[in-house]
Amino acid sequence: MINLVLLGAPGSGKGTQAAMLAKELDITAISTGDALRKEVEAQSEIGKLAKSFMESGKLVPDEVVIDIVKNRVGQEDCKKGFILDGFPRNLNQANMLEKTLDSIGKKILLAIDFQVEDEIVIKRISGRYFCKKCGTIYNHHFKHPKNAGICDECNSTEFDSRNDDKEETVRNRLKVYHETTAGLVEFYRKNNLIYSLDALKNSALLFEEVLAVVQNTNKTKL
Ligand code: AMP
Repeated sequence: MINLVLLGAPGSGKGTQAAMLAKELDITAISTGDALRKEVEAQSEIGKLAKSFMESGKLVPDEVVIDIVKNRVGQEDCKKGFILDGFPRNLNQANMLEKTLDSIGKKILLAIDFQVEDEIVIKRISGRYFCKKCGTIYNHHFKHPKNAGICDECNSTEFDSRNDDKEETVRNRLKVYHETTAGLVEFYRKNNLIYSLDALKNSALLFEEVLAVVQNTNKTKL
């Protein structure tokens, strides 16, 4: 089964697509952002270290995230395949990922780049909230639960929003994205793994395209 990387600015829809894809293909979605938020909530050593970086929209030091991914990709539930959402974020992380995967006989077969303009990202993110129980993402402007106040996926009535989804922090996250993460498109293009998608459309339509790209890669590269 396929191992893939999702690239794109914050708010480009990577997280939603990762969850949909994981469900459809029965593979594992790994979000370094989610893993770090759990550490922050648990007030662990990693969490304490990561908190200030995250709150200001900066990248957490590479060693921390690389360790998280190293531990994760070798686990049983990644055997069928995995989706990396939010990792790698810079060239060093991308190189470390290759090394780590090499050492366990795995590789990335596809990197999907979700393209959206900054101003749209800001609007999307400022309306973003999620179910506290299962993490399903909603948006005050675009995507409400079918029954107001009740999560479509797990019926929970508790919702929350992210600390770093404030406009000022989002602008910083976008700056970091353009300065360091966007360059990864070239890294994966060199290896002939990149597929860029216009991510402006709604999540269901976008998912049809994502699924088609993944299935095509499965057919041609596996
Ligand atoms: P995300 O949920 O992917 O938007 O990530 C939220 C925040 O977590 C980012 O703004 C960073 O501070 C941190 N983070 C997540 N993934 C990484 C990564 N691969 N490298 C460094 N920091 C990360």
